[in-house]
Amino acid sequence: MRTTYVLSGILKPRLQEDAAACIALTASDLYPEDSWNFVFGQASLYERVGVFSLARYGDPDLGKAEFNLCLLRTIKVATHETGHMFSMSHCILYECNMNGSNNLQESDAKPLALCPECQAKLCWATGADPVAQFKKLAAFCKAQGLTAEQAFYEKSLQALEECR
Ligand SMILES: [Zn+2]
Ligand SMILES: [Zn+2]
Repeated sequence: MRTTYVLSGILKPRLQEDAAACIALTASDLYPEDSWNFVFGQASLYERVGVFSLARYGDPDLGKAEFNLCLLRTIKVATHETGHMFSMSHCILYECNMNGSNNLQESDAKPLALCPECQAKLCWATGADPVAQFKKLAAFCKAQGLTAEQAFYEKSLQALEECR
């Protein structure tokens, strides 16, 4: 399925004026042009619409470990595309959720979390309180068994609370 069709043909005409952003997900493979192989997702930096695909993350029915890997891949790309919808470009400064990735190996290598610069951009764009955000993210990761990510958010929370 062409991303341009989903973004311009489906989402843009339906985007509510008071919506922060609107993202679609599909089980179909996505590509922006016929000449491209595939993309994990694509989002507009300025028009608050995005789309991502679940087609290339593995088989979640193979067991708990495979399920968690598919879940982590899914939320990484969903949050990455959402970052684009808040006008954030690719990050080249640090290891960061907003790093670009062209294949699963690159996607798996980058963290779920944002780097300090992109985290600051997200807080500026959304008005989010990072303490409240990290608490919710740590709880979510704990509930889902994403232990490394949970530990990272708890460590981030601890660092923020030490600054207060
Ligand atoms: Zn991107
Ligand atoms: Zn970054």
